[in-house]
Amino acid sequence: MWFRADLRVADNPALYQACQADEVVAVYCLTQTQWDQHGVSRVQRSLIVRQIECLRLELEALNIPLIVLDCGTFERAVPAIVGLVEELSVETLFFNAQYELNEERMSREVQFELQSKGCDAHMLHDQCLISPGGVMTGKQTVPKVFSAFKRRYLADFYQLARAMAPKPTSRSTISVVSDVASLEGLSVSTPCDELWPAGENEAFARLEKFGEMRLRFYSRDRDHPARAATSTLSPYLAVGIISTAQCLYFALESEQASIDALGEGAQVWVSELIWRDFYRHVLWSRPDLCRHKPYKKETDALPWSSDAEAFEIWKEGRTGFPLVDAAMRQLKQTGWMHNRLRMVVAMFLTKHLNIDWRLGEAYFMSALVDADFASNNGGWQWSASTGVDAVPYFRIFNPIRQSERFDECGEFIRTFVPELGQIVDKTIHNPRLDQRARFGYPEMMVDHAKATANTKAMFKALSVVAK
Ligand code: FAD
Repeated sequence: MWFRADLRVADNPALYQACQADEVVAVYCLTQTQWDQHGVSRVQRSLIVRQIECLRLELEALNIPLIVLDCGTFERAVPAIVGLVEELSVETLFFNAQYELNEERMSREVQFELQSKGCDAHMLHDQCLISPGGVMTGKQTVPKVFSAFKRRYLADFYQLARAMAPKPTSRSTISVVSDVASLEGLSVSTPCDELWPAGENEAFARLEKFGEMRLRFYSRDRDHPARAATSTLSPYLAVGIISTAQCLYFALESEQASIDALGEGAQVWVSELIWRDFYRHVLWSRPDLCRHKPYKKETDALPWSSDAEAFEIWKEGRTGFPLVDAAMRQLKQTGWMHNRLRMVVAMFLTKHLNIDWRLGEAYFMSALVDADFASNNGGWQWSASTGVDAVPYFRIFNPIRQSERFDECGEFIRTFVPELGQIVDKTIHNPRLDQRARFGYPEMMVDHAKATANTKAMFKALSVVAK
């Protein structure tokens, strides 16, 4: 069993299949150089490494040893897997698919190499409820509009959605012992680690707590960052400590309802899980997205800026827009950011500072504990109006208005921008000049009206987009 972004025992289709055999060995390829090349955040590396240790214990309880191979890159991981397969005389390798370009290439190479050596290599699908290729238009393309994708997805759900993989009960009698020595001495820990404990139990506890306390109110509260209304499961989904199937079936079970008859809160939450699948289907159908290309090809001609100083100010949360700054500081301090705020800051970077969305996308990958290529790329391209079913270029969030609507009392701002903590009235959303001077808070780095007028003009000049 080759573990990848599916670091769990429960609901793991490949592990379940592997466990039908008498002897099972698990392997994980540590690819730190590849992580550097993909800009994987330190906080996510730390979660992965801590999760591998939890996984080892879970697997050993099934008498399945875990071997961690130190490979550096995906390219070197292929011969490393083949070598292990030969050394242990493995008959069949099981693994779950990944849809990013390099990961997908690696799957194919492993399959090719093993099959040429007489070893079967079975790829299963665990990431989506309905795997890529299952939700298509009559013309055999992935729907370009989320609402159309979701309509088909819901209509075909009971025919096409994968069932949960049963809990593996291994008969394995193998005498090989675990080898996780390559994890020793890895210095990946971060100050945020305690916010994101590893373990399937932790992920499931979050899911249960969310189901008990927040699911019902999700549609009402989810856009308000001070309310702790969402599941915070994204880091666990990103590295595969829990699956979307576990989340979705949990929602159906706790509502005791079919997918088309959920209460309002659960309906909206399930819709978010479907967005996650949507972006994976889109990525699968458009591998060029992994090569920094926009989904709407014509938008590649937009003259984005790469103003390093402005980019730095945005990253540091010193833009002078309190909600934007609070969000950017939440990211730095916790490794996570609320969804509404991701849209606000992404739109601010692209539509107020006109900075290339690819720079923001890469910064998020390097800072988020839940960094996930498909969702991150999808979210950035949505905000930049270059993506699939993206926000129209002329609908630009006003960060002050967003703050008044979604952080009404300024509670979230006060938490992450403590220098504004003494402002108790509505000026928290846009402090007066004298308040800014008194509290050492910067003036707004751009004028909303002027900046957004420039952006609209920039997009309008692209006649194809303006149509
Ligand atoms: P909940 O509200 O509890 O939702 C449950 C799950 O549904 C999430 O964990 C997530 O897996 C999925 N989901 C929710 N919203 C979205 C969405 N808009 N798109 C796709 N899936 C969604 N999500 C990531 O997992 N990794 C990323 O790197 C990432 N980057 C983003 C970048 C931008 C610019 C934007 C706008 C969004 C990004 N998202 C990303 C989507 C979303 O912000 C997070 O999934 C969400 O905030 C995670 O919080 P939660 O687990 O509490 O979500």
